[in-house]
Amino acid sequence: MKIAILGTGYVGLSTGVCLGVIGHDVTCIDINEQKIKQLNRGISPIYEPELEKLLTENIDAGRLHFTTAHQKAIAESEVIIVAVGTPQGDDGAADLTYLHQAAKDIAANIKENTIVVIKSTVPIGTNDSIKALIEDLCGFPIKLVSNPEFLRQGSAIYDTLHAERIVIGSDQQDASEKICKMYEPFNVPIMITSIRSAEMIKYAANAFLATKISYINEMANLCEMVGANVEEVAMGMGKDHRIGSAFLQAGIGYGGSCFPKDVKALVHTAGKYGFDIPLLKETMKVNENQRVRLLKKALHRFRDVNGRKIVILGLAFKPETDDMREAPSITIAEGLIKLGAEVVAYDPVAADNARKIIGDKIKYAESIDEAVTGADAVMIVTEWKVFKELELKEMVTKMKHPIIFDGRNCYLEEKVRACKNIEYYPIGKPPIIQ
Ligand code: NAD
Repeated sequence: MKIAILGTGYVGLSTGVCLGVIGHDVTCIDINEQKIKQLNRGISPIYEPELEKLLTENIDAGRLHFTTAHQKAIAESEVIIVAVGTPQGDDGAADLTYLHQAAKDIAANIKENTIVVIKSTVPIGTNDSIKALIEDLCGFPIKLVSNPEFLRQGSAIYDTLHAERIVIGSDQQDASEKICKMYEPFNVPIMITSIRSAEMIKYAANAFLATKISYINEMANLCEMVGANVEEVAMGMGKDHRIGSAFLQAGIGYGGSCFPKDVKALVHTAGKYGFDIPLLKETMKVNENQRVRLLKKALHRFRDVNGRKIVILGLAFKPETDDMREAPSITIAEGLIKLGAEVVAYDPVAADNARKIIGDKIKYAESIDEAVTGADAVMIVTEWKVFKELELKEMVTKMKHPIIFDGRNCYLEEKVRACKNIEYYPIGKPPIIQ
């Protein structure tokens, strides 16, 4: 099938590469010339495991093309997938500026019988309004399918190739059948719903996961007070299949380009109908508080961090990605700077993106060793494998004070206890001080 994709971000690029893997002829379009230049040379502008390898394989096989020119790719495609960003607007609603421009780009070039597939996360009712907008501009009826995306950054390729479900929202049977056929080689469950249900599924799922995270974080905070261990509590809860063990890892809050903005957008949508969702408002409030949890622990320990060298290990909002959008590390770094600390950070891949947001108010180390040498304390902010596997015993010998605030509970008790003189403050578990 000849497919055009608008937007080569985490979603558009992963989708494009994976559709190439199953044999489709895919042209990815982006307005960012720099990105397209890089992609045409087989270089991925984002970090995702497996992405670059499959990118070059599919370019070499002639199944994957990149361009900034909408015209030809849209006119020649049977299916046009929209994966442009829908960031958070000033009022909390999704900002649909990119989507509206994409709709205009499509309308100016689309041929009859082409199917438009909206993959971007959009407020309920948006697919209908985009269909009306395109039809208004192009002058003939089009086919449109809502196809929300559920991939996780850090495993975007795996998730696309092994999706737990593909949701296709449509009231045009021929269109949904064709999109089912397009995805058929993935051999994953596909469910067909109404357009509005498809839009709602995406928001309801993300808001639920965000709430589950805030819930376990609140339990972790209470565990610290009553002397329980949140990992034991989560394991005991998770064995109940009605609860499930996923998303019960206590930490310093959710971040990234989806959960924060999608929860806000859902609350905003509800508000438009005069419906308040206090549960989701609390989810957001709990998350804000959780982000400053390590700062509070550091202040409790030191009283004053002014002039102290505090190291942040991990800047990306989660491991295996270079994405810094809404990363808790931003709040932590800025909080520490305000308190007068000397902040040094290390991340295996996200330092360049972090510099664009946090700037040069903090130092970016080239290695863990360089970062931790002479440190008054280390804060573990992202649970990268390299941090989980590091020789803790050796690391603490390089620090001025062997004090660790672990925001992601990376270490087993034995590993911590093997270190001399360590002070270890995890989340939702008793500290280890020896
Ligand atoms: P992104 O910001 O990484 O990429 C969007 C891309 O679209 C950019 O490269 C931008 O230049 C391009 N673009 C903007 N307007 C364009 C136009 N008119 N024509 C062609 N390209 C255009 O975004 P993302 O993280 O891939 O997210 C895309 C959508 O998918 C969002 O709605 C997001 O909420 C949703 N989503 C994201 C994830 C995720 O993990 N990132 C997961 C599920 C759903």
